Amino acid sequence: MSDQQLFPVPAGFLRPQTVDAAGLKAQHDLVATDENAHWRTLGEALDWIEPFTKIKDVSFNRDDFRIRWYYDGKLNVSQNCIDRHLKDRGDQVAFIFEGDDPSTSYSVTYNRLAAEVNKRANLMKQYGVKKGDRVTIYMPMVPEAAYFMLACTRIGAVHSVVFGGFSPDSLAGRILDCKSEFVVTTHEGVRGGKKIPLKANTDLALLQCPDVKHVFVVADICDVMLKHGDRDINIACVLDEMSAECPAEPMGAEDPLFILYTSGSTGKPKGVLHTTGGYLVWAAYTFKTVFDYQAGDVFWCTADVGWVTGHSYVVYGPLANGATSLIFEGVPNYPTVSRFWEVIDKHQVNIFYTAPTAIRALMREGDEPVKKTSRASLRVLGSVGEPINPEAWLWYYNVVGDGRCPIVDTWWQTETGGHLITPVAGATPLKPGSASYALPGVKPVIVDAEGKLLSGATEGNLCIADSWPGQMRSIYGDHARFIETYFSTYPGKYFTGDGVKRDEDGYYWITGRVDDVLNVSGHRIGTAEVESALVAHETVAEAAVVGFPHDIKGQGIWCFVTLVKGVEPTEELKVTLRNWVRREIGPIASPDVIQWAPGLPKTRSGKIMRRILRKIAEGQPEALGDISTLADPSVVADLIKGANLKI
Ligand code: ATP
Ligand code: MG
Repeated sequence: MSDQQLFPVPAGFLRPQTVDAAGLKAQHDLVATDENAHWRTLGEALDWIEPFTKIKDVSFNRDDFRIRWYYDGKLNVSQNCIDRHLKDRGDQVAFIFEGDDPSTSYSVTYNRLAAEVNKRANLMKQYGVKKGDRVTIYMPMVPEAAYFMLACTRIGAVHSVVFGGFSPDSLAGRILDCKSEFVVTTHEGVRGGKKIPLKANTDLALLQCPDVKHVFVVADICDVMLKHGDRDINIACVLDEMSAECPAEPMGAEDPLFILYTSGSTGKPKGVLHTTGGYLVWAAYTFKTVFDYQAGDVFWCTADVGWVTGHSYVVYGPLANGATSLIFEGVPNYPTVSRFWEVIDKHQVNIFYTAPTAIRALMREGDEPVKKTSRASLRVLGSVGEPINPEAWLWYYNVVGDGRCPIVDTWWQTETGGHLITPVAGATPLKPGSASYALPGVKPVIVDAEGKLLSGATEGNLCIADSWPGQMRSIYGDHARFIETYFSTYPGKYFTGDGVKRDEDGYYWITGRVDDVLNVSGHRIGTAEVESALVAHETVAEAAVVGFPHDIKGQGIWCFVTLVKGVEPTEELKVTLRNWVRREIGPIASPDVIQWAPGLPKTRSGKIMRRILRKIAEGQPEALGDISTLADPSVVADLIKGANLKI
């Protein structure tokens, strides 16, 4: 990677830290001498109804495949996230809610959270929800979504949260896939001032789902007219009758906790299944360690609860630590592009965690909308979801964080439950664009296409050699597909699907999906590398790079480029950008085609869907595949038109 500059811990970073450099080293040392002792310490950070005595039982081999953690213990997730905090900090704020409309905000204390969750748990029980039943939650980013998630865990029901931006068909597909008989929704959601008809979408979806018995409709008042009499329960009509006490169901550590469908960046979404003990251990440990969480901090993760980031770092990780977590209903650019920074000032946010797509979009608007806010409360910044280009990293560090706040660039997946490769705030020196090192106990390895282990500074496919507590346990309803997808390409190892480089200092640099890595005249070039070079040019706001068949080179490089506001798309600029990439990376990475892209196809979680761009560049727009998780399908037609002009 071009930018190898090392950023030590910023001067003035608050001490003592939760885990400083010495503490992190001590954890790595413990793993080296007595790995189980490390895992035991992590497990003991939770409250167990029946303490575990067994820690780990894992084999990644097809014949005796198994993944079990803390497996003779019993616990309850809601009890760990709520009840155990009530004695000491019942009046402390658990959730701060910031509405889409900047004039709406309120706080929910741990005491109130306990009552709200227990009432909903009793409500679901009364209408027939039992331990092990799947409950689909199709909600906007409001505390009610978290209440119902926690209420499911209270009674041992398995939640499947479906992002509120999905269409009726996508919702129906996910309800049918996990045979869910209960749905939670509300009349409508609002994001960026636009209303989303969630209940109407649910009604349409349920035309395809005859087995759904009840829809719990979140409402403030009881007289809302509902269409489907017996099926729909307006919770405002019955909640007052529910007791605010509900016993926490003792769950086996390996009992299912939730199902969550992946973003669909690379194909049809998979129903990832996580279990109770290991997942919560990992969400709690990584939250506290990686972000250097300290009692009293206000933590804000901007991800929607419809994604794994929202599960682990809006709800479970923060609450397991008794933290204050901010739930934001809106979007980064409404009503203005200063919204994120204003919310940070308004609620005195200490730790802020967002995605490169948001950082790049806001960087495009210049420094002024950031600079006019204070952001003095910020201590730690985080990034997740895609590789962060060094250019965007430096802007985040210097402009948003004023050079004071470490950035934790956290690499992980829906499948991993929580962070695996990431800096620990205040303990790891940073390199812009690198996710740095694996957390203690996590064993990344790099293999070539044949599965041969590569050592030292190298590049190849990222696998994890052994399990960690937060690992997914199955694809819901299709265990064979789980083993096939993740453990058969490189037998005995978990294959992440990502490409990676390891430099001389042992830092890991994610280069993108393995399927996206280019092979130009026999040279392997990561899409992330070319994209970062383009974004580093002052005229470029965002770029997506894919390969296409090339007679001489094998693969050519096709760049879709979004320019900074106000920059003219000219032929001269294309030449300038081509020369720029040649100079930044080398002539081997010289773009063959640069296509201006007013918008890029993204998943609803904001990730660029390169497989669609690849089909466009290959001249096969009829073979786009599943595009149901696309945020704005109209950009695709524009790009196909633009590509045709070129061929
Ligand atoms: P699908 O699996 O359905 O194709 P997806 O992989 O986008 O969708 P997620 O589990 O949400 O679904 O995303 C995980 C992927 O996101 C990782 O495999 C990696 O490619 C990318 N990613 C996440 N965080 C980072 C990061 N900090 N740096 C680089 N890449 C990241
Ligand atoms: Mg994936």
